[in-house]
Amino acid sequence: MIKAQISEIKTLLGSTKNIVIVPHKNPDGDAMGSTLGLYHYLKLQQHNATVIAPNDYPDFLQWLPGNETVMIYENDKDYSQTLIDKADLIFTLDFNAFHRTGDMANSLEESDATKIMIDHHQQPDDYAKYTYSDVEMSSTCEMVYNFIEMLSDSDKIDARIATCLYTGIMTDTGSFRYRSTTSRTHKVIGNLIDKGADNTQIHNNVLDTNSYSRFQLLGRALQNLKVIPELRTAYITLSQEELDKYQFKKGDTEGFVNYGLSLKGIIFAVIFIENRQDNLIKISFRSKGNFSVNQFSRSHFNGGGHDNAAGGRSESTLESTVDKFISILPQYKNELSQT
Ligand code: 5GP
Ligand code: MN
Repeated sequence: MIKAQISEIKTLLGSTKNIVIVPHKNPDGDAMGSTLGLYHYLKLQQHNATVIAPNDYPDFLQWLPGNETVMIYENDKDYSQTLIDKADLIFTLDFNAFHRTGDMANSLEESDATKIMIDHHQQPDDYAKYTYSDVEMSSTCEMVYNFIEMLSDSDKIDARIATCLYTGIMTDTGSFRYRSTTSRTHKVIGNLIDKGADNTQIHNNVLDTNSYSRFQLLGRALQNLKVIPELRTAYITLSQEELDKYQFKKGDTEGFVNYGLSLKGIIFAVIFIENRQDNLIKISFRSKGNFSVNQFSRSHFNGGGHDNAAGGRSESTLESTVDKFISILPQYKNELSQT
């Protein structure tokens, strides 16, 4: 984001504005951390700001400071629409194409508000007046930190903002281990701890929330794990029956795909999760090294994301989705055996 744009945004934020802040559908730690971190920053400056999430999010994020102020579009369409209609500014965080907000996409598209995108996914759409896009960034939370710093307001970062931003950096980097984690990421994290983020408590809040039924579901997922050693690939399936059997709740399958990736020698891991209510198979792709799951998902499974972490979906059955996957894989034999 160039200096001239920052100074325009500074001018915009110089008087009280009605502001809506939106994460993507099925928001994760980075989506909720970045939107709530920005929310607290804007509220400190007397703006009328509201986070509107397209739909609900897991319990392990429901403790974030400001959580009680979040509107859920799916549950409260009329009031959400009123806020969008009144908005002078709309921040879209942790996504870069309206369709990632599901049912909210039309409202956002039709709104006349000035849009500001802050995001680290690949190939951003061109809908925002101000686009701060950087695919090298660990997380949108790290970018919100930079954004506040560019506005010369680092001193305004309080414990609530620090807690929200810490959470998203931590979740999007797998606790600071993925290769998007830089020395700068660690410096930002250090500063956030100095500003009052309680790191041990945050890790407890996010990660130590397992239920017995989730562990049983994990057991099922690990039993379903299949390995294709010659293509250095591992994949897991979970059917609707299996999810029902272990009382699946939103967020329960978070991180399951990483077990495949942690197998020695595996560089491509996938999980296919059936969702009969929405009539689709939700897919998560993860890789190590240069194999781009963003490209893979874009080409075959209607999704995208980052080089090493992407989502996708399929509208056929679980079985035929997996069959399709297995039939495509050999095309990537060279890439998968090289990286
Ligand atoms: P997950 O597998 O956890 O759903 O997604 C992995 C990453 O890819 C996340 O950063 C998520 O935001 C992103 N992602 C998931 N689905 C899509 C999609 O359809 N398009 C794009 N551009 N990114 C996605
Ligand atoms: Mn993110």
